[in-house]
Amino acid sequence: MAMTMTEKVLARRAGKASVAAGDNVWVNVDVLMTHDVCGPGTIGVFKEQFGPNARVWDPERVVIIPDHYIFTADTHAHRNIQILRDFVKEQGIKYYYDPDFIRGEGMPNPYKDPTQTKYKGVCHKALPEEGHLRPGEVLLGTDSHTCTAGAFGQFATGIGNTDAGFVMGTGKLWLKVPPTMKFVFHGQIPPYLTAKDLILAVIGEISVSGATYKAMYFAGDGIASLTLEDRMTLTNMAIEAGGKNGICDVDDKTLAYVKARSNRPDWEVFKDDPGCEYDSVYEWDLSKLEPLVAKPHSPDNKDTARNCRDVKIDRAYIGSCTGGKITDMIFAAAILNGRQVKVPTFVVPGSTEVHADMLRLNLQGQPKADGEKSIWDVLVDAGCTMGPASCAACLGGPKDTFGRLNSPMNCISTTNRNFPGRMGDRNAGVFLASPLTVAASALTGHITDPREYISGPIPTGQAGVV
Ligand code: SF4
Repeated sequence: MAMTMTEKVLARRAGKASVAAGDNVWVNVDVLMTHDVCGPGTIGVFKEQFGPNARVWDPERVVIIPDHYIFTADTHAHRNIQILRDFVKEQGIKYYYDPDFIRGEGMPNPYKDPTQTKYKGVCHKALPEEGHLRPGEVLLGTDSHTCTAGAFGQFATGIGNTDAGFVMGTGKLWLKVPPTMKFVFHGQIPPYLTAKDLILAVIGEISVSGATYKAMYFAGDGIASLTLEDRMTLTNMAIEAGGKNGICDVDDKTLAYVKARSNRPDWEVFKDDPGCEYDSVYEWDLSKLEPLVAKPHSPDNKDTARNCRDVKIDRAYIGSCTGGKITDMIFAAAILNGRQVKVPTFVVPGSTEVHADMLRLNLQGQPKADGEKSIWDVLVDAGCTMGPASCAACLGGPKDTFGRLNSPMNCISTTNRNFPGRMGDRNAGVFLASPLTVAASALTGHITDPREYISGPIPTGQAGVV
């Protein structure tokens, strides 16, 4: 029976020769991820259902990555971190990335050196960096953007605390196999587009509910031409169309990264079989796609950046698991290099590794020579306000969160969600766009097509490669 990649991964971990869309199967989970927002609730469910002395099913497969409410004086946020610390100690959990600078009350001082802290930053960025993603595996996480990991050819999806508490105790979950929608991109990615434009095109076409409980498979030479990091932007936003998971083919870029990082050897690469059944197929020609934005207040409220040139913006934001990767920073810095932003522009690295790379690499994504500017230097010189790695204002958070929209304003942002109140004030308007479009708009104070600033390909060198 011809199967899709998603079906093959689920069949493998269900111990079956084959599965089909609509089948319900018990799936063995490879990794369960949780963070500071949902971890305490998951632990509560686990203890309630399995007893106060229960042990997690595998302390090497539960990965805990605090990232959401880190740089805040909020006492509830600090309490959550302490709950995670206590649980990790009690259970002997091997992979926990502690914000070790949080000690006691008040706003914590950020890490001084991003290479000298156990803290990693945004979970979806830290998971591949720390070797927890592999083709053919099943990753479940208590965060809707867990689907990001599908860029590595695995099945990855977000689950609620109740399901996660069950997985914590058993290592299994009852899952329905989703049908697969195929999104094919033809041609090479042009220098003025990033994966953000591609996924906004998809969501604008099918709507925020267009892929509800379906696998979103991104294919074609256009996807092959993307960096592995940019593919993560595509799969990250599968959930914004209601997708159960997003998934990409495994190629040499994926294999090089996983082989260099993975902490387990036993994974398997799958491909869609010829003749496998798709729920639907959509196609785009990349040479015809323009830089896009999603206007307030929905990721499917698509328009071209060109059409929105009369929209004034008050703030620009570059960060999150969608737009805070090192290649996103290079894209933004390439446009801002030697220029000055016109509106307050907040920059938040997606992880401490991204932060370190911003200090270490030059604009071409190569180790910087003595006297040469780093990516960080370029952004500081352009007038950006720089913050430490975390989710920060992507989801609003407590009032003292870096970059939070604390009053009604227009913000253009590399993040993934723009529902009312998502980044703070309910009356703020968030325009989602690529790091290129956000940077170009920061320079003019109105939404700007990045083609006005781009004359050729933007090299990203070694950035995000392994
Ligand atoms: S950066 Fe934003 S979307 Fe990503 S995990 Fe954090 S809050 Fe969620």
